[in-house]
Amino acid sequence: MIKTYGDEYRDIIEKVVKITIEKHQSNYKDIDVEINLVDNEEIRILNKRTRNIDKVTDVLSFQNIQNLRFPIDTSKYLTEINPQDNSLMLGEIFICLDKALEQAIEYGHSIEREIGFLTCHGLLHLLGYDHNLGADSEKMEKITEEIMKEANLEREKSDNKSQMAATDFKSGFVAIMGKPNAGKSTLINTLVGEKVAIVSWKPQTTRNKILGIYNEPSYQIIFIDTPGLHKPKNSLGKYMMRAANSALDGIDCLLYLIDAEKQFDQKDKENIAIYLDADIKVIAVVNKVDRVTKEKVFGILTELKNFAKLQAVVPISALRGRNIEPLKEEIKKLLTDHIKYYDKDQYTDKNMRFIASEIIREKALRLLNMEVPYGIGVDITKYQMRESGDIIDIDADIICEKAAHKPIILGKGGSMIKNIGTYARQDLENITGSKVFLTLFVKVRTEWRENSLVLKELGYDN
Ligand code: GDP
Ligand code: MG
Repeated sequence: MIKTYGDEYRDIIEKVVKITIEKHQSNYKDIDVEINLVDNEEIRILNKRTRNIDKVTDVLSFQNIQNLRFPIDTSKYLTEINPQDNSLMLGEIFICLDKALEQAIEYGHSIEREIGFLTCHGLLHLLGYDHNLGADSEKMEKITEEIMKEANLEREKSDNKSQMAATDFKSGFVAIMGKPNAGKSTLINTLVGEKVAIVSWKPQTTRNKILGIYNEPSYQIIFIDTPGLHKPKNSLGKYMMRAANSALDGIDCLLYLIDAEKQFDQKDKENIAIYLDADIKVIAVVNKVDRVTKEKVFGILTELKNFAKLQAVVPISALRGRNIEPLKEEIKKLLTDHIKYYDKDQYTDKNMRFIASEIIREKALRLLNMEVPYGIGVDITKYQMRESGDIIDIDADIICEKAAHKPIILGKGGSMIKNIGTYARQDLENITGSKVFLTLFVKVRTEWRENSLVLKELGYDN
């Protein structure tokens, strides 16, 4: 009996156990092994109690039977039989999930591979292998490689520490749109459900609320909620439309959910057209395919062919989790950033600078009410925690294109910039949990939009 505690990686673990036991000419049904997924603290305590070592390690095995012979003959170990199913109790394995994740990132491979590897390693110990013995060490390495291969967990080409450069890491912001009840919340749950890192960045406004964050060792998708786009009343041009809908600025792509159970109607088509016209990368997601016939789905897919600019069309069932992998792959292709914006429980200065600039920009655009037609940029010139550890000083330049915009941003007697600062500070204090001293300046940089260097500096490099 293979008992795993912790559901997440059960399939991988069971697969690796079966292969490993079969490699030893035995039947996995004849053995009993307990595999526990634990965290840093738990494994530290275990190490301390059992080995008197105060350390976090990746895997610990507690062997029950020494000098095991293969194929395993359960009748030879009568005192070690689990009476429930007559299986032989090999022992227990503890895998530290925190450590596994850390190592997966470090080596640049999937968490699944790392868990598989640790399972294999731990189990080989239970079977009597000892990598501290020269000959065994080689044997262990070889058989591990074979098992990982059979489990489809072998190293990929890029699966190498040195090759996983910082730029290989991809990240980006993805907006989710669609009519009410199309399944947006369900999709987020399915996508990030078990992998939600933090959802603690929730500015007071509904704009750009983070719905969830999907993390893989090599990429990170931040799903955000945005208000709908509005069709400009007059011909203001693409840029104006994007600026008017600043929440969509800086997103890498937009998922537009279509409810297959309902009509793919004029409203949906209009929405998709608006996003495409604004040069937003759109993936059309046809949801609830579990509820309708293939013909119905096919009909919608055919209609979507009219939108040549769509990046991809993916039919899914958000509720049943069907076809989610291909959707992730399509999104991954469109991610353009290389920064890990959100780390578990922790905001680094680097991503906080980015978050701070986004917040200030958002407040400014909202309060300025489009009086500064070509938008603005925000440059964080200082982000510093005071030594006391409870106050953060943030200085930022609000950059506009024309000298004439400066007084508008400043407002009468500085009232506008004061307002921007007040609102931004409130959000920043909410996020950081610290007191924030925010100082804003207004700078004019003529033609900054055309100057790609400046643009890059400000984080707009498309
Ligand atoms: P939202 O308003 O776009 O956020 O939609 P919800 O995620 O709240 O979903 C609306 C309803 O549709 C809920 O009752 C969901 O359970 C259901 N739903 C969402 N996705 C699917 C799906 O793929 N299949 C089925 N059968 N129901 C779904
Ligand atoms: Mg919802």
